[in-house]
Order: sequence, then C-alpha cells, then structure tokens
Amino acid sequence: MELSHREITVALASPFRISRSTTEHAQLLEVAIESNGVVGYGEAAPQARYHESIESASAFLAEAEPLLGSDPFALDAISRRLSSVAGEMAAKSALDAALHDLCGKLAGVPVWKLLGHDRMGPPTSWTVWLGDPDDMAQRAAEAAPQFQRLKLKLGGRDGLDIDRVRAVRAVTDRPLMVDINEYWTLDEALDSVVALAELNVQYVEQPLPAGDEGGAKLREASPLPIYLDEDCHTLSDIASCARRAHGVNLKLTKSGGIREAVRMAHAARALGLGVMLGCMIETGLGIAAGCQVAPLCDYVDLDGNLLLADDPWSGVEFADGVQTPSEAVGLGVTARAA
Ligand SMILES: [Mg+2]
Repeated sequence: MELSHREITVALASPFRISRSTTEHAQLLEVAIESNGVVGYGEAAPQARYHESIESASAFLAEAEPLLGSDPFALDAISRRLSSVAGEMAAKSALDAALHDLCGKLAGVPVWKLLGHDRMGPPTSWTVWLGDPDDMAQRAAEAAPQFQRLKLKLGGRDGLDIDRVRAVRAVTDRPLMVDINEYWTLDEALDSVVALAELNVQYVEQPLPAGDEGGAKLREASPLPIYLDEDCHTLSDIASCARRAHGVNLKLTKSGGIREAVRMAHAARALGLGVMLGCMIETGLGIAAGCQVAPLCDYVDLDGNLLLADDPWSGVEFADGVQTPSEAVGLGVTARAA
C-alpha cells in the first residue's frame, strides 16, 4: 500500500473557547492510502494536550508506509506494527480511518455496514463554548432550534459556572451536558454537581484533572453521572475509569481509530459504563469516521465540522439533529472542489 499525507488549515465560523484555549483556525492532516488503484482517506487532528502536533504526526506518517504492509483488511496485524511506535494516536487514527475507507470501497459497502452497526446514532449535541452567562444563553438560544442536545463548556474559574448553566436553562428546555475540561477542584466539583442536578443537567464531563485522586470520591457523592474524557484514551483506560466515573467519552483521535473505539465501547458496557463519542475540530472526513461508531453510544458530540466556515468534505448529512453517514461505500465522503 502507498501512503501519502498533507497538511490542511480550516477556518472556524466563529472563535471557539474552552477552559484552556481559544481557537480560530484548526490545522489537520489528511491521509491517503492507495491499494490497487483504490484510495482510502482519513484525517488527523493532533492535540497539544496529548503532546502531539502537526509536526510530530507528519514525522510519524512520513515513516509509516512500511508498517502498513500489503493487505488493507489485516487491521489487527497493521495495528500491532503501528504500536511499535509510541503515541501519535491522532495520526494512527487517520491511518485507521483511511484503511476502513479503503476496505469499504474494496468490499463495495459503507463502513457502518461492514462493521454490522446501525447507520444512525443518537443526535449530536451542539457545543456552546465558554463565555459570560448571558452570552452563552444567547448562543444556546440560537442553536436550540437545530440541535436536540446542547453541551456547555464550563471551567471559567470565576465562580460563575452555575450561573452559566442557569442562564442557558432559562432560555431552553433542551437536554444539557456540561464539560469542565479538567478545570474544577474536588471541592468545587462536589458543590457544583448538586447545583447542576437541580438544573436538570444530564452529566458532567471531566470535572477534575486527569488522574486526580478525588475521582472515586466524586463518583461516590455525585447525584449526576460523571463522564471521563481526558482520562480515557484506549482500551487499557476503561477499567480505571469505571472506578472513578459512570461513563467515558471515546474519541478516535485518542483511541487511534475506529477499531479500538469499538473495543472500548464494548468493554465500557461490560463494566456498566455509559458511552459517549466526542470529536475535535474536524472536517466532514474526520466526522464521517466518528459516525461509524456513533450507533454504539448513548451520547454523541460530533459537531466538529459544523463549526467550520467551509467544510471541504461532503457526505455526512446533518438531519433532524443527527450526523448521518452516507450510504455510499467506505466512509461515504467526497472532497469538494476547492
Ligand atoms: Mg471533553
């Protein structure tokens, strides 16, 4: 198989702010794997939070072709060879997506069908990024007609997080989730979860820093489900998450792709955990890979491409709040003419 990759920059429709950063553009890597004249595509969104960058992912991809071998269906063997290099999960996820796209195209079926999954998952939430309470309420009110669920980014460290949720709750009855991105202390979390339960929030995502020893105590005390994101990367993290939370947030960019995410979803179920699927800022290509796993999940946050000023890939349809993969072969996406 022949592997190539290129860097792309996408502009956001408006700046995206969470507890640790503000973003106006996203840099991504697009990967192409060719076998017998058929090309599969995948996308990498390397995260500085996980010590990955466009440069480190590019350097890995530049050397990865010999690890792919000649059989795109030999996904376990390819994965074992790729694991000889540590980290670079975003780049590995792009390779996994491109291989699934290629396998689907060679087999003549969409990936979700190849995996035996339903086509449709739950509705995606729309992410309301961190801002002042009134500002978040205004943006939530604007999004509520199109989206069945809203996910609020909290972690302002200004004592206003509960006011933010209260302000949004005043303008919409939509189910609300909150994502703290590691910015609460244990004391703040113990107080906040009680207030959030009264505001009918569905769950609280990653309230404490990854690895925080207070996780088990918070799990015990919380009236709301706690979901872990920054704490949960691959299959080997699921058991410890079950001791410290009620659910996990899977992302292909952390797991290294579709195949590992499917394993994680089943392991999480076996331990009684809820399962959600998240994304990064991605194009329709990256989101299409997520859509193949979405039917295994209770909650889906796949709004990454909807945040873009212009999505360079078509194929995923946003309909009635659900990010729906195409019935076309492979990941079912096509590059739009530049
Ligand atoms: Mg999160």
